[in-house]
Amino acid sequence: MFSKFEEWYRDRHDYARAWKEKSSGKVFGCFCSYVPEEILVAANILPVRVLGSHEPQDVTEPHLFGMFCPFCRDVLAQGLKGRYEYLDGITLAQSCIHLRQAYRSWEQHVDQPFSYYLPHPMSVQSPAAVPYLREELENYKKAVEEFTGSKITNDDLDRGIRILNENREAMHELYKHRIGPEPKLSGKEAMWVTVSSTWIDKEEHTAEIRRVLKLIEEREMDRECGAKLMFVGSENDDIEFINMVESVGATVVVDDHCTGTRYFWNSTADDMNDRIEAIAKRYVERPACPSKDHPVRTRFPHILKLAKDFDVQGVILIQQKFCDPHEADMVPLRKYLEENDIPCLFLEFDVTVPLGPFRIRVEAFLEMVGEEDLF
Ligand code: SF4
Repeated sequence: MFSKFEEWYRDRHDYARAWKEKSSGKVFGCFCSYVPEEILVAANILPVRVLGSHEPQDVTEPHLFGMFCPFCRDVLAQGLKGRYEYLDGITLAQSCIHLRQAYRSWEQHVDQPFSYYLPHPMSVQSPAAVPYLREELENYKKAVEEFTGSKITNDDLDRGIRILNENREAMHELYKHRIGPEPKLSGKEAMWVTVSSTWIDKEEHTAEIRRVLKLIEEREMDRECGAKLMFVGSENDDIEFINMVESVGATVVVDDHCTGTRYFWNSTADDMNDRIEAIAKRYVERPACPSKDHPVRTRFPHILKLAKDFDVQGVILIQQKFCDPHEADMVPLRKYLEENDIPCLFLEFDVTVPLGPFRIRVEAFLEMVGEEDLF
């Protein structure tokens, strides 16, 4: 049922090359989920989230300090190794210092006709955040127009907003099938869907979700559900890891990742005269990355609500090694969840994860979650 998403997940570069050939359009690499894809889709550009490959590499040492997170080192390695050679442009929406350095090194050492650093407010709770981002998005739109040689009209923006929103709505509908005693899809299948949505043509992706939604109600799962878990933390698209967790008696039913719910959870208003302001509001008000979640930690009640709505028995807190934004949140987040009767397991990720030792810890956690269920 999910084989198309698996294929998209596995053959991401082949897909983008074929899309380019078929549509004669341009492809932009997006560093961070704060890049306003509505504007790119409005300009007939395919946004492709740049992610790592989870393979050991030896090319980033001259560019990035070893104590930068493994995710941004893995991302830069993809560029230096030429895996994204088909990109016509790249954009970073300011998120954290680590990724900014990966972006700057990529910009200098990988040949790309267009690159744009989009200043994005860190203080998204400030009343100045929307007007500030609105101006920055106007500048970005102009830069994209100059690059493509075509004006982006209000009709184009309406199309971009609609296409993104339809995909988000379809993802929400799919996630509803992860609620209840017998989720209709595994966490691995959901990860194929959510992660591939960050680089597949959104209309094609939505159509495939809609096809699945027609069939999923009748689906009989050929695996036991086991303990229902949630993943929370830094970027995570590691299929090997989720496979391991789900092979030892669990199903991952929801997440708070920037390649998961944080990416698609909220929509852009489609009834505002000022389309750029609507897009700015969407990115300011979306579930925040911890780098932007201050002075009030709005993530915590949001994560707790997800945990309760999806009835999880435990949370695996995932942190990319040396990731400062998530590291600052992990201790208070764990305390907050445990005070609300949600058991947690903390794991620190590197480019490749040590599946053996992690398996032992996950199994022990599942035993504890099971025991807690008895009381
Ligand atoms: S938020 Fe964390 S995991 Fe993501 S790029 Fe920055 S340091 Fe790395």
